[in-house]
Amino acid sequence: MYEDRGRLAELWEVEVETFRVGRPASEALWREAIPRMPDGVPMLWMAKWPGPWPVYVDEAAGAHFSCVDGIDHVDLCLGDTGAMCGHAPRASVLAIADQLAKGSTFMLPTQDAAIAASLLEERFGLPSWQFTLSATDANRSLIRYARQVTGRPKILVIDYCYHGSVDEAFATLDEDGAVIERRGNIGAPVPLDETTVVVPFNDVAAFEAALARLDVAAVLIEPAMTNIGIVLPQDGWHDALRAACTATGTILIIDETHTLCAGPGGMTQRDGLEPDAVVVGKTIGGGIPAGAYGMTADLAARVRSSLELEDIDVGGVGGTLAGNAASMAGIRATLGEVLTAEAYESMIDRATEWRVGVQAAIDEFDVPWQVTQIGARAEYSFIPTAPVDGAEAAAADDFELQQYLHLHALNRGILITPFHNMALMCPETSAADVERHTVAFREAVVALYA
Ligand code: PMP
Repeated sequence: MYEDRGRLAELWEVEVETFRVGRPASEALWREAIPRMPDGVPMLWMAKWPGPWPVYVDEAAGAHFSCVDGIDHVDLCLGDTGAMCGHAPRASVLAIADQLAKGSTFMLPTQDAAIAASLLEERFGLPSWQFTLSATDANRSLIRYARQVTGRPKILVIDYCYHGSVDEAFATLDEDGAVIERRGNIGAPVPLDETTVVVPFNDVAAFEAALARLDVAAVLIEPAMTNIGIVLPQDGWHDALRAACTATGTILIIDETHTLCAGPGGMTQRDGLEPDAVVVGKTIGGGIPAGAYGMTADLAARVRSSLELEDIDVGGVGGTLAGNAASMAGIRATLGEVLTAEAYESMIDRATEWRVGVQAAIDEFDVPWQVTQIGARAEYSFIPTAPVDGAEAAAADDFELQQYLHLHALNRGILITPFHNMALMCPETSAADVERHTVAFREAVVALYA
């Protein structure tokens, strides 16, 4: 906990004033938009950015974007992984534009779909793929299928997980270990304990006990937590998950939407994990909506044989524009030519430099914070040692301190991922881009602690 709240409030006011003075064009657009959209934004969570109004983007390329006030930014948010391939990657843009010019949505497959599926198979080792418009929808589809083929009612998720707007996943544990809905859950359709079992990350005993009740259709899990800060798996965690799922006939779904930052095939490929299904999304389309899920041959066969052709269009797994030709062209080009093994080497090097820069300021001023990295992603949090589960990570949260650090960075032309303290590298992120953050971060630490 940062103790000197008075100093924090003063520092915040200084940054707010800097922002106000420097962003008049964004302010004008925002004021115009307010009567037409709640809080003046197309999606309400965009109101949560630090500062009195959102920054309006003018254009972007690679790791940079400029705003309508003409300010250049190093983008370490990268659309919270949507643009991990960099903004407007040339190969993806050409492929998508070419397909758009030839028609983009037919409800019929194009040749790119099978190519996209085979590129995903190479990376994740799973043979059978389906496509959606978002990772959320991929998760929802798999949850439906898992219930269908197992006949079991519940989904197991990790305490403080996030998997998109998936009803079953907005559960957490109260102090007595009971399943309750997570703070801020909007309009839950049914009480969460009817649909969901929750266990803490890295808690093998709780996980095994939960599956032993044989009412869980599927486990939906990130291989490392990335949405409550980063929480890494402890040795043996993934082996125990796989073994318990196999022993109880539970389907193991690994959501690699964010952990695709670990390497071309996410942590599944890097660490040799063996899920029954994998979910990816966000960046795979090269900047346009695309999600995908892969299944083992066995799971795909069970799913297919459980469905009648006659009902297949209205069964709860769908999406008119899912698998559209433009998304397929985007996936083909982005996986084939942009997010290559070579690109990952540079992305991971840059993330290492970022982590080292943050750690240096933490060490210099003896600040009780820690920084953790997974591949091309790194994140600091306000506790001295890396958390082992979501509750510990959540307890370290300090919304005001975080907003200050984000606004401080923004005023120095650096965009940090909102809602936590995460930085992500794309193939074009340069050492100079990282250095810009290292200098600004040290300056913020000086302001807070020196
Ligand atoms: N899975 C994970 C692990 C995520 O972090 C997110 C979004 N942050 C999603 C799924 C959902 O992605 P989308 O909002 O693009 O559907």
